[in-house]
Amino acid sequence: MSTTALPTYDDVVERYEPVIGLETHVELGTNTKMFCGCPTEFGAEPNTQVCPVCLGLPGALPVANKAAIEATIRIGLALNCSIADWCRFARKNYFYPDMPKNFQTSQYDEPICVDGWLDVEVDGELVRIEIERVHMEEDTGKTLHVGGATGRIHGATESLVDYNRAGIPLVEIVTKPIPGTGANAPAVARAYVTELRDVIRTLHVSDVRMEQGSLRCDVNTSLNLPGAEWGTRTETKNVNSLRSVERAVRSEILRQAAVLDAGGRIVQETRHFHEDTGDTTPGRSKETATDYRYFPEPDLVPIAPDPAWVAELKSALPELPRLHRRRLQEQWGLSDLDMQSVLNAGAVELIEETVAAGATPAGARKWWLGELARRANESGVELAAVGATPAHVAELQRLVDEGKLNDKLARAVLEGVVAGEGTPTEIMSARGLGVVSDTGALTAAVDEAIAANPAIADKIRDGKVAAAGALVGAVMKTTRGQADAKTVRDLILARLGVEG
Ligand SMILES: [Zn+2]
Repeated sequence: MSTTALPTYDDVVERYEPVIGLETHVELGTNTKMFCGCPTEFGAEPNTQVCPVCLGLPGALPVANKAAIEATIRIGLALNCSIADWCRFARKNYFYPDMPKNFQTSQYDEPICVDGWLDVEVDGELVRIEIERVHMEEDTGKTLHVGGATGRIHGATESLVDYNRAGIPLVEIVTKPIPGTGANAPAVARAYVTELRDVIRTLHVSDVRMEQGSLRCDVNTSLNLPGAEWGTRTETKNVNSLRSVERAVRSEILRQAAVLDAGGRIVQETRHFHEDTGDTTPGRSKETATDYRYFPEPDLVPIAPDPAWVAELKSALPELPRLHRRRLQEQWGLSDLDMQSVLNAGAVELIEETVAAGATPAGARKWWLGELARRANESGVELAAVGATPAHVAELQRLVDEGKLNDKLARAVLEGVVAGEGTPTEIMSARGLGVVSDTGALTAAVDEAIAANPAIADKIRDGKVAAAGALVGAVMKTTRGQADAKTVRDLILARLGVEG
């Protein structure tokens, strides 16, 4: 056949074996930069957080930031790495306007953390991701192209450089190549970045927000025939969300398979991921290490962390996310499947905080995975951004438990919470929502319902207690759902002289 359809993903991963690898940059949340005392606050006026060191002025001398070294060691320890007893910084030479020194201070063949691992779960199975290295470096400035339609250099009339970000501490975490994941390669990549983000968040060394660039990910992908040597890899950049990590791997697997199927050759290059189309386009052809002419940084002393200090940092590590999740699952009494749905909904912390605010685990889970997950899904936002807080949900559940709200009214109150109208108690009084359990007020409605439905009332008098449901319904209607159904039923039976 001359016209062939593009191969499907399932077909491709039957015939080729993907090997992936991930390089992740984490911007540390230190108060000052990596090699100078400049502040690191996000969003300041351009070029107001700079000094001779981070501007690379002649004669300026850097000093390494101890808090950044400590944060890097803690990340390494959390990733089960060995911590070097001696390591150095190196100059990575390249020329780009947002890098004032014309080199980046990084680490090369003597990184501070090596040979670790991180276990991630994919479809209930544990996959061990080997970590090659964790090293320290500094961020570059930011270039803003003005005058073009898209903010890109193409068509721009001028370019502005902001050096506020230059010199902010970065930690780069590099995995070893990850073979053997087959069709799951995209899911494994996503699970790894998710778990890594959660680990680092637990350490409180970075806010790890992909959308703000404090967690950035490059994804390496190659394909080989079963049993053959690994193929040439490409490096996909601009992967700015967890979902994009997964899509980028998948799209690159499909693209490379199409090239190989057509008898082509994969070029080693960086590629750019596009959120809108979900595919990648070529960037520059990939530099090799020799292009960067690395050499040891002569202006900085080597780092030799005291083993006693490292041991102290290790013993003070917090409980890591996977163990934490396992403990919560036990405390909440959830099956693996139920826990998985909590994880998939991104609701672990929310439920944890709701329970801490006084709700039962079952009550917390019910609202977050039910009504609130549905609303988040409808409006396309993360569950945490849906508009309700754990404190709101705990309060709502308490009002239900106290009989002040029934399920239907609670949903209406929650709608107000999500709309930003206030706390559940405030919305109850503002909207006049609340269960009417005052029997005096209900008696009139009950009598009215009995008078309007004499045949049903007779049935109940004759002992057909089940018929009371119709009268309860009538009372609920006249009270706009605000009556307590059990109280209404008891009242009806009492008025008709029937034992409940
Ligand atoms: Zn500075």
